[in-house]
Amino acid sequence: MSQLPFSSLPLHSDLLSNLESLDYNEMTDIQAQSLPVILDGKDIIAQGKTGSGKTAAFGLGLLNKLDVKRFRIQTLILCPTRELADQVGKEIRRLARGIHNIKVLTLCGGMPFGPQIGSLEHGAHIIVGTPGRIEDHLSKGTLNLDNVDTLVLDEADRMLDMGFQDSIDNIIEQAPKERQTLLFSATFPDQIANIAKRILKDPVTVKVESTHDNDAISQYFYKVSNHEDRMYALRLLLLQYQPESAVVFCNTKREVQEVNDELVNRGFSAIALHGDLEQKDRDQALIRFSNKSASIMVATDVAARGLDIDNLSAVFNFDIAHDQEVHVHRIGRTGRAGKKGLAFSFYSNKDAGRIIALEDYLQRNISEDALPSESVLDYTPTQSSMITIRIEGGKKQKLRPGDIVGALTADNALTFEQIGKIQLSANWSYIAVQRECIKVAFNKLSEGKLKGRKFRVMVVRG
Ligand code: ADP
Ligand code: MG
Repeated sequence: MSQLPFSSLPLHSDLLSNLESLDYNEMTDIQAQSLPVILDGKDIIAQGKTGSGKTAAFGLGLLNKLDVKRFRIQTLILCPTRELADQVGKEIRRLARGIHNIKVLTLCGGMPFGPQIGSLEHGAHIIVGTPGRIEDHLSKGTLNLDNVDTLVLDEADRMLDMGFQDSIDNIIEQAPKERQTLLFSATFPDQIANIAKRILKDPVTVKVESTHDNDAISQYFYKVSNHEDRMYALRLLLLQYQPESAVVFCNTKREVQEVNDELVNRGFSAIALHGDLEQKDRDQALIRFSNKSASIMVATDVAARGLDIDNLSAVFNFDIAHDQEVHVHRIGRTGRAGKKGLAFSFYSNKDAGRIIALEDYLQRNISEDALPSESVLDYTPTQSSMITIRIEGGKKQKLRPGDIVGALTADNALTFEQIGKIQLSANWSYIAVQRECIKVAFNKLSEGKLKGRKFRVMVVRG
């Protein structure tokens, strides 16, 4: 934190009072460095690690500039994936709560076109979307960028990694030249410098230190020689430490699936997250992980990037990351908010170069740590504390979290504490309940009525 209050900035009072209600008191470092520049109307390149508060940095900047009475698309925010776009859309809406009648629209792939076209016809002030889908709308003429005066590239490095360079160029060609461009990125490879040169005007560069507080994260390194070794080491460590929530990073989608399947077969509560999954499976994976119905997420960097899966008790590098900054990024998801974090990395002889680079980057020696003893194989894997129930009805059916809590707590079936996270989408609702009351909860929801009608209900298992 920067120790600087938001009120030290020339922000509209409705934004400031909303920030107070959100309990955003001080600016984070990246906010303190970038907001003055953004509010000054300048282009910016801002580099900061995941969780540093980049969304509010650009979000407050663009909201402060927005003219709500002019019902035109004034801001376009590009994000690499649908999950990120959804998260950014949500955060912008939260930040904008003090502004009446503001319309934020999310346009992503994997969603049907029809409703998006309908929403576009109704108009919006801010569009958040993925490059592919935005490009599609532009080519069909269903989206017009003539009034855009702020363009944001969020997670720019990841968008380039994912091959969106051409899409981004096409999109920018259709945006006015007179505009403010804000580029946010976690890392700063050469590709970013190139694109920045083409699309930004005299940008100010700000960078917030990407290394973490070494004391908060204990890092361990294990030498392995093949896939079986890695799997074995992973099992031993999971059984020894029994983390409540952990992410296992792999370098390929295939490996994600393999590792996940092996863990599930051995009774671990794991889920896979990678780009080849159907959208609905991705959504469900994230929901189950975030609501504690699964304790291990096996993921690629691309799939996990930028997602609000922080506060992990442990991070595993099934493979050493290709890049030191990515390594630091991965492990930075643990050891947050004053808690101790654990980071376990597996490396083989082939990784010698990466280990040397990492030693240099972390300014420490890396030597082989000893694995837990084989006796831990007798332990049973921890079960997740929660189980997820899905209701085939959501916001469109006018369901609200209160309806669900009401149904579950009626006749003292469940206590408030036994109900976990509730997440509503357009046509589905997901409810986490404590494992021991899953039966009662399921019966309550499937036999009872919500908003006067019956809904199909199912228990979501891995
Ligand atoms: P990034 O995009 O840099 O990875 P986010 O914008 O997603 O990070 O922010 C991470 C978390 O920090 C979010 O949950 C957000 O609500 C919270 N946050 C951001 N800025 C502040 C602040 N100034 N005070 C308190 N919480 C904040
Ligand atoms: Mg972000």
